[in-house]
Amino acid sequence: MSLNEPADLSPILDSLCDEWDRRHLWHPYTSTIDPLPTYKVAEAHGAIITLSDGTPLIDGMSSWWCAIHGYNHPELNKAASSQLAKMSHVMFGGFTHQPAIDLGKELLALAPSSMHNIFYADSGSVAVEVAMKMAVQAMISKTGDHRKTNFATIRSGYHGDTWNAMSVCDPVTGMHGAFGSALPVRYFVPQPRSRFDGNWNPSDIEPLEHLLEDKHEDIAAIILEPIVQGAGGMWFYHPQFLKEARRLCDRFGLYLIFDEIATGFWRTGKSFAWQHAGVEPDIMCIGKGLTAGYLTMSAVMTSKNVADTISRGEAGVLMHGPTFMANPLACSIALGSIKLLKEQDMASRIACLEGIMKKELEPVRDLQGVTDVRVLGAIGVIETEKPVDVGLFQKHCVKRGVWIRPFGRNVYIMPPYIISEEQLSKLCREMIAILKDDLKIHQK
Ligand code: PMP
Repeated sequence: MSLNEPADLSPILDSLCDEWDRRHLWHPYTSTIDPLPTYKVAEAHGAIITLSDGTPLIDGMSSWWCAIHGYNHPELNKAASSQLAKMSHVMFGGFTHQPAIDLGKELLALAPSSMHNIFYADSGSVAVEVAMKMAVQAMISKTGDHRKTNFATIRSGYHGDTWNAMSVCDPVTGMHGAFGSALPVRYFVPQPRSRFDGNWNPSDIEPLEHLLEDKHEDIAAIILEPIVQGAGGMWFYHPQFLKEARRLCDRFGLYLIFDEIATGFWRTGKSFAWQHAGVEPDIMCIGKGLTAGYLTMSAVMTSKNVADTISRGEAGVLMHGPTFMANPLACSIALGSIKLLKEQDMASRIACLEGIMKKELEPVRDLQGVTDVRVLGAIGVIETEKPVDVGLFQKHCVKRGVWIRPFGRNVYIMPPYIISEEQLSKLCREMIAILKDDLKIHQK
């Protein structure tokens, strides 16, 4: 037990953790010798996750950006069950189906106007793999140059857990430092320090400009999380950086990949984050909120130019074809989710959540031990001076009836959009109370 851990937290844990699970089930980024506590969930409705002993928690995580409409949404349940009655899956090789077609039409209507071809994939990480494969195949086909296959990106990024996705994550904060020299070596430049809500400092683009002047002959594409860097540091950067990155890609004939897996579907206050800069990528990955937390599915969209360039290449086809490609259940739920988004004034809804978080979190800025407070769209971040003990933090969450999972020096929330104003205020206040009263982060 740590210094700040009151004895009365232990019984909460004992009744909610499962010993078999603890011994046999691997949870994300968790030790088998000393696993972090995991709490057994019985059900979830709206913005409330209910634990097995009946304890309700206000959800601050949307199950890692996914559950945008909350849990157990009647419309999405209906979309799933009516598709289930027809077919849950059929192979996409040689077959197509209405949910895939209808979803494709909706996605193209939401996407940048240059997007033309859609590849459905299984998860965010796989979407990143597919996007990188697209860039390499298109570049080799376009230039005939088999050396132009590397990637450049910015520090503090996160793009997923599969091999190539790991290689473009930040080598230190991107969670994959353990793999070191086993990973392909990519080009990294510092992240832009100009804040989203601050002034643009032109020197922010210089490292990328210099890198590309020097190395563009090795590079197929630049990959970026537009505006919001998520799991690599929860940083919101200036839209001008994307404009400059586009300019450089055009100057050196490189592809620009936007990983909108976390930022898509209104999380940043726009339907997709590229809109903050008005800059279109050549390849775009979406996932997470796509199926509103119901099933795993992602999509990679690209321009006709990129798609046709791949098809004119040596292989003549894009070399990827997952078993569960365009799963009809997932497509039907995604269609239901997009319908819900279209029925609402999402810009006002997200602005309302943003306003509450700004008001509630702003006073923490003055707290000793807090280095920054950032709010953008439906994302609120408190950055602390020292890393936060996630296991201990979450015990206090359970005690206080909220669900937040910090990492490193970032304590952050990205709640379901249906959260009530009272629930969101409580979520923010408990988050602050845990830092201030329970963990006493202001004490040296
Ligand atoms: N890209 C970004 C920006 C992400 O935030 C994530 C997931 N945290 C991924 C890719 C990987 O997605 P998945 O976990 O679905 O593989």
